[in-house]
Amino acid sequence: MYRNDQWAHTDLGSPIALFASHSLSDLRHLQPILLMGGVHGDEPLGVHLAEKTLQMLQADAALPQPLLKAPWALIPCLNVDGYKKQTRVNGRGVDLNRNYPSTSWSPEHEKERYNPGPSPGSEAEIQAVVRFITEFKPRLIIHCHSWKPMVVCAGDPGRKDAERLSRSSGYEVVPEIGYPTPGSLSQFGWFDNKIPVICIEEADETAQAKVWPNFESGMREIFLDASPR
Ligand SMILES: [Zn+2]
Repeated sequence: MYRNDQWAHTDLGSPIALFASHSLSDLRHLQPILLMGGVHGDEPLGVHLAEKTLQMLQADAALPQPLLKAPWALIPCLNVDGYKKQTRVNGRGVDLNRNYPSTSWSPEHEKERYNPGPSPGSEAEIQAVVRFITEFKPRLIIHCHSWKPMVVCAGDPGRKDAERLSRSSGYEVVPEIGYPTPGSLSQFGWFDNKIPVICIEEADETAQAKVWPNFESGMREIFLDASPR
């Protein structure tokens, strides 16, 4: 297993950790599943879900004969500075899920919590993810949030995995979150690059101890499945 606690840094200099099933030179040819938590710093349930998924993958990798065959990369907490301060936005006041250099990126925003940044891809966190996507061409991207319970699936190739998470949690699969999200990962990943993107929204009020039971079987099925998406 690969681990780099200083894989990238935020604009404020905080390290962002990346874990992966293989060394990065091997991973380059494997089109891994990319999973991220902590895009929004005030959604700790998303960080928790990413960390529990990482623990599942690490435990499996330690088995004499690992069962979870899909190659993967995992960023437990992307918005390290926002997570420390418990803010949605990053250390520079930018909503990272509006800052992707998507064709849909727009400087318009009604509330500061949706600030898309001064220009598309202006933030170090997003530049790091975009570099990863460009270099590794993930077969599927999953990011973990909390708001209202749902599994948002952008891109038909991700549908099977979204249904797995839906069966596991009881949350509905929907094609969109219900309001426009210019410059989001769904926009950049699916609409611009044809990589399916699943956004897991745990319910804000869910007790932390319930989060992993909600998603464990779905995550296991996803990482058991070594097929391309
Ligand atoms: Zn969020």
